[in-house]
Amino acid sequence: MIVTIDGPAGAGKSTIAKLLAQRLGFQFLDTGAMYRALTLHAQKSGIELSNATNLATHCVAVPMRIEAEVLFVDHQSVGSDIRTPSVSRDVHYVADNVQIRRHLVELQRRWVCDANFVSEGRDQGTVAFPRAQCKFFLTATPETRATRRLRQLQNQNQPGMYEEILAAQLDRDRRDQTRPEGRLLKAADAITIQTDELSIPEVVERLSRIVETRLARTTQNSLAVPNPGVSA
Ligand code: C5P
Repeated sequence: MIVTIDGPAGAGKSTIAKLLAQRLGFQFLDTGAMYRALTLHAQKSGIELSNATNLATHCVAVPMRIEAEVLFVDHQSVGSDIRTPSVSRDVHYVADNVQIRRHLVELQRRWVCDANFVSEGRDQGTVAFPRAQCKFFLTATPETRATRRLRQLQNQNQPGMYEEILAAQLDRDRRDQTRPEGRLLKAADAITIQTDELSIPEVVERLSRIVETRLARTTQNSLAVPNPGVSA
């Protein structure tokens, strides 16, 4: 079974997808990490990010794989350095690049094809896995998402201004919603979960109940052997 979780930045997708995967015994794929890791790789390689052709040629040639949920880019496991402000600022060059997006979607499909997966990002239910059996769209108001981000920074003793975080969040939403391909969009058959008033365990509980119900239904359907003596 493939479970997709899409939604805007700061909606809690990564945390929830990871916990949901653990609870279900599924593998977890953070597709945002793929875009971030290629951005960092291109930065370190001195590629001019605004040159879309050179950027695509570079990124498509970088070997990527996952092993036990760990992403390896150019044979190195990715670390927390993919989450720096400089990568967040530049990741749109990679995410807006149609050639790179198609390459990454192809990798995602290859990795996810023979296991149970929870895959999170922006386009998982729409572009990467339109036939996924269970799709969620996780969201919260920009104000809630900015407040959560500020609290996260405060817990890490890092500076942060609410107004700046909110403005950056709105800017990322705009970029995510307007890119030519793979834009942030709720799939028609996705279930929306508004997380403003919910704790992380409450969201995980709600999602896992829905997945478990669908899993049980899928198992029942596959076990149902038509009775040859009964005409339809
Ligand atoms: O989820 P995260 O914030 O780590 O994603 C980093 C960037 O990658 C986002 O700004 C988003 O625009 C982009 N992204 C994407 N498609 C995905 C996952 C992430 O365009 N499936």
